[in-house]
Amino acid sequence: MQTINTPCPACAHQVVVPFFDGGKQPLATIAWPASQAEAESMPRLRLDFMRCVACGHVFNQAFDYADVPYGDKPNLMFNRGGIWNDHLATTRDLVLAALPENPTVVEIGCGEGHFLRGLAALRKGRYLGFDPNAAIDHGDGLIEARSELFIPATNLAALRPDLVVMRHVLEHFKNPLAFLQEIALHCQLNGVSTLFFAETPCIDRVFSTGRLADFYYEHHSHFTQNSFRRMLESGGCNLRTLATGYDQEVVYALAEFPPHGMHGTCARDAEAFYLAAQLSRQEIGKQLAEISAGRKRVAIWGGTGKGAAFIHHFGADRERFPLVVDSDPDKAGTFVPGSGQLIQFRDILRTSPADIVIIPTQWRAKDIVAEMRREGIAPQSVLIEHQGKLVDFFSDSHPYR
Ligand SMILES: [Zn+2]
Repeated sequence: MQTINTPCPACAHQVVVPFFDGGKQPLATIAWPASQAEAESMPRLRLDFMRCVACGHVFNQAFDYADVPYGDKPNLMFNRGGIWNDHLATTRDLVLAALPENPTVVEIGCGEGHFLRGLAALRKGRYLGFDPNAAIDHGDGLIEARSELFIPATNLAALRPDLVVMRHVLEHFKNPLAFLQEIALHCQLNGVSTLFFAETPCIDRVFSTGRLADFYYEHHSHFTQNSFRRMLESGGCNLRTLATGYDQEVVYALAEFPPHGMHGTCARDAEAFYLAAQLSRQEIGKQLAEISAGRKRVAIWGGTGKGAAFIHHFGADRERFPLVVDSDPDKAGTFVPGSGQLIQFRDILRTSPADIVIIPTQWRAKDIVAEMRREGIAPQSVLIEHQGKLVDFFSDSHPYR
């Protein structure tokens, strides 16, 4: 059996298998060709559906979002059937029962806005519909129409919604899981706790019926109940309810994004490290400039791996820091990548001593200091990088002694 290594859009599992080769077909729903000639001359796009072996998700691995002209044509959804209206009422009531008084509600990809207006008519609050590609009907100011993309980084912090709704939107995304993870992270970074209602078409019945009409280009993702659940869980939601509706043809869930968690902590730690690293490069760069101006003989101990990385990060160039030594005689005679210093065996320091030895590999410094003592190499000071500075191995505070 052919297996393919590519990430599943729902659960991020990396191994998938071929599911349906639809050849090349035109867009099925969003093109609205105005003439027979236009219809017949539409570009053909590849349908190459794969199935994730971990969660059962089906997706078109040849899909390119740029091939779907949402900006030019409306994505009209038929929503007037009687059974469909029953389904809408069921999901609306599920959402209303979970909403607080006077909520702020955001719908991402709201289309003309009927679901949001339905909520707003029954519960006083602030309702915002985001959709850059639809003529949103604000219902005489019942809802706020935002003809733009919803950007989690800015909109979550500014609006602090009690509920985010995404109905029949996630199946169009190239990477729906990434979008949910982005929402989860920005909730945690801003301390926002929000309910989440999502709904997509469901293909659970495709497997027993063998039908093919579900599969067309605009729908990149085809969810099963299981893959929908896996996406929400991997996306950082805590699931409250998951069910199918409309005779198992749609799957929907009510979940919540928590206001605190590991992802927010990790992102804040990373940001602090990022800023500290910039200061560290400036500070150590300055220290190296002072050392070089002091006209002392300086050796850097180690010129490959972490030694080379130290030289690169802090700009210890060949002109100012020509002397690079190594404990390993096999490395002698080669050159530091990029900066070009000749790497010499450490015995050079026995015959022409250095005043200062810089050891980029802090965790080996203790061994190197012992090696220097054994070999009669006695510099005035030994420096290592610690907390954004070069510190003295013997007299300053650090965890490597
Ligand atoms: Zn999967």
